[in-house]
Amino acid sequence: MENKFRFYNTMTREVETVIPHEDGKIGMYTCGPTVYHFAHIGNLRSYIMEDVLEKGLRYVGYDVKRVMNITDVGHLSSDADTGEDKMLKGAKREHKTVMEVAQYYTDAFFEDCRKLNIKRPDVVEPATNCIAEFIHMIEVLLEKGYAYQAGGNVYFDTSKLEDYFVFSSAVEKEQLQVGVRDDVEEDVNKRNKNDFVLWFTKSKFEDQALKWESPWGVGYPGWHIECSCIGIKNLGEYMDIHCGGVDNIFPHHTNEIAQSESFLGHPWCHYWFHVNHLNDQTGKMSKSKGDFLTVSLLEEKGYDPVAYRMFCLQSHYRKPLVFSYENLNNVELAYEKLVKKIAALKDEGEVDSKAFAEYKEIFTDAICNDLNTSMAITVVYDVVKADMNDKTKLELLSDFDQVLSLNLTTAGKKLLEESGSVDTELEQYIKDKIAERAAAKKAKDFAKADAIREELLSKGIAIKDTREGVIWERV
Ligand code: AMP
Ligand code: ZN
Repeated sequence: MENKFRFYNTMTREVETVIPHEDGKIGMYTCGPTVYHFAHIGNLRSYIMEDVLEKGLRYVGYDVKRVMNITDVGHLSSDADTGEDKMLKGAKREHKTVMEVAQYYTDAFFEDCRKLNIKRPDVVEPATNCIAEFIHMIEVLLEKGYAYQAGGNVYFDTSKLEDYFVFSSAVEKEQLQVGVRDDVEEDVNKRNKNDFVLWFTKSKFEDQALKWESPWGVGYPGWHIECSCIGIKNLGEYMDIHCGGVDNIFPHHTNEIAQSESFLGHPWCHYWFHVNHLNDQTGKMSKSKGDFLTVSLLEEKGYDPVAYRMFCLQSHYRKPLVFSYENLNNVELAYEKLVKKIAALKDEGEVDSKAFAEYKEIFTDAICNDLNTSMAITVVYDVVKADMNDKTKLELLSDFDQVLSLNLTTAGKKLLEESGSVDTELEQYIKDKIAERAAAKKAKDFAKADAIREELLSKGIAIKDTREGVIWERV
């Protein structure tokens, strides 16, 4: 299949044209959530951009099979086998069993995905479904001499590989090898600093809830083994694209490659797609910080989750993105204006096939050019204001929405239907005032900014400046 789909491959550090193992087909794997808590909107940034990648590949004609694991066992609070067991932590916090916690947060994750128009992967596999496969892979790794038993656990021996740090430059490799040995929890059973656990029997967690029989005693799997096994089980010996957030590059994806290639005896996955982090004003958003932003919280504050999707699409996936309510407000205002304009288009007449092809090509080029989603959104605006009939515009917009999933041709109608309601009008008015106040502050016109705050207060609306931007509440 001829195509020009290109994206940045972390492995080769280059933007490469996709050439799958089997012509026309793509096997794509995504590291799924660790289901001990709600996903935060940073996690969901990764899933939104991976969704656009999948839909972009389908858009240019690939037959994509997408697989995702659900981490419901084995993930410790440090990605390098130290700290608390995340699932156990969730169960203790909520006085539930680990499996109840896993089910609850798996459902919550897919509900968030639904609200953000993220397609459910073709295969979703919880780690606890695949214990037999993990045991088999570990047995093979032991047989082949890539693994060893020590102190009751089974470890992967990274010294057996010529190049363990596959994603790193020469300088980074040196730093990683030397390492900083200030980790008080350093595991004395490890032969090499970067060795990692394949199977735990000597658990630090006496009350570890989930345990299975294995040739090495009753225990549970390490975190990394699940993605190698679930990937190979569902996509075969060759995977085309593996995705995750940038924090997964080391050690998680590095360890996945070590295990999979040692097990298979040949290269495993060619393209590695990593999404940069969403940060708040204090740094990387993370679940362990406790206080994090969720889709439900955005909804409680009156945002349409799809506006958050648009917020993500307006930045490039390889750049860090800072979240603020101010920016989200601006994006939502722009989004509402856009979809209302689209709702006013008349679904009549004939499609102008020449104009359709011309704009489709520009849009396709943007998506194929390392997922340039902000350019793709510019093309949406260009179509709306272009000199062509409404029917052609509508056809183009619904065609683009196969990739963008912004409800471009349906959201405006809904908004217009609702706009009779006082609440929506009031919300719009408040959002306008907040934007006006931000502009006044930027221009150092503090008197005007204060006047706007007072004006809102006189209408029973208090605004508050927070780390993430301005929020409002009724008083
Ligand atoms: P977890 O549920 O912690 O296993 O993470 C799920 C996914 O979210 C992984 O692909 C992570 O790499 C990704 N991730 C974690 N934190 C962030 C963040 N702040 N911004 C974007 N992606 C993230
Ligand atoms: Zn993974």
